[in-house]
Amino acid sequence: MPTAESWVVVGLDNGGNKNNATVLDAEGRYLVSQLFERPSRVTEGPDVAVAALVESFEDILRRTAIDRSRVKAVGLDTPGPASAEGVVSSRGSTNFAHPGWRNYDFRGGLEAALGLPVVYNNDGNAAALYAHYQLFGAMAPQRSSISAIVGTGLGGGVVERGHVVKGAAGFAGELGHVHIPMEGLLGEGQPQPKCNCGFSGDVESVASLTGIEANLLPYWLSRYPQHELNKAESIARAAKLVRGYGEAGDELALRIFEQQAKAIGRLFTIAANFMDPDAYFVGGGVVEAEAHFRDWFLGKVRENTQLKEEQAEVARFTIVPDLDMAGARGAALAALRSIHAR
Ligand SMILES: [Zn+2]
Repeated sequence: MPTAESWVVVGLDNGGNKNNATVLDAEGRYLVSQLFERPSRVTEGPDVAVAALVESFEDILRRTAIDRSRVKAVGLDTPGPASAEGVVSSRGSTNFAHPGWRNYDFRGGLEAALGLPVVYNNDGNAAALYAHYQLFGAMAPQRSSISAIVGTGLGGGVVERGHVVKGAAGFAGELGHVHIPMEGLLGEGQPQPKCNCGFSGDVESVASLTGIEANLLPYWLSRYPQHELNKAESIARAAKLVRGYGEAGDELALRIFEQQAKAIGRLFTIAANFMDPDAYFVGGGVVEAEAHFRDWFLGKVRENTQLKEEQAEVARFTIVPDLDMAGARGAALAALRSIHAR
């Protein structure tokens, strides 16, 4: 039977601006029901950022009145790119631009600072794991799922029988850079969309805020010259406003989101043939929107996912829940599972 003195794990979600923390008990119950954010200070390099995570760790224990001795492990999730073991890419990235980050062992650095085992996942994988366990509960270890999370980029992950698929070098589940057919997706005369990764016509080049700004919005504004977004101070600013227009039923915005839904549907069609998952999750701002808009978007994704009859009978299409907390919660879940696996 669980007791007040049983052990817990802590989940730490590291982001470009903020850290968020949670606590999960040995029976799989979250002891924190809200966001507890603190500055992540990642731009100041690894030493400062690790110290900031230690502060988040101590803060969440204070808030939940849990003694440090009860913590058995810590889950950490960060934005990519990092190896499966949490070593930041030697090429740096938006979030890890400070030179100290190159090849930095983030997981190992936090483990040394805390003196506790640290389990690492990238943020998309952590959120995918959380969504999977929230939907399937006790059946999670027998189920598989794919999560596509629309943000600045297109993140997410693949969960197979309850395990995050990480791959040999940690790049499995990089769904944004999967190529999808563009025929029937692009409008007349619309240029082939390009992604920051160097590909053109991958999922992220369409289904991301970056894709709206770089590829979709410039084209659609040229088709709607009278649209008031043409008067926005910058294309970056206009891109951020598109969702509000979509919720209000604006035609240009709905064209953009329909293209995004088609891109995700095409990705899910590839997934259906590649892994045949039990569930397809969509996450991100586009489904954290008003219910009518969220349902419309999810319906468009479903409509554009080609499943065989047998698959359609079992497949579930739903959203990644509690997205602001999903990273920390998924990271904690991974730490809990690592203990059960020992
Ligand atoms: Zn790409």
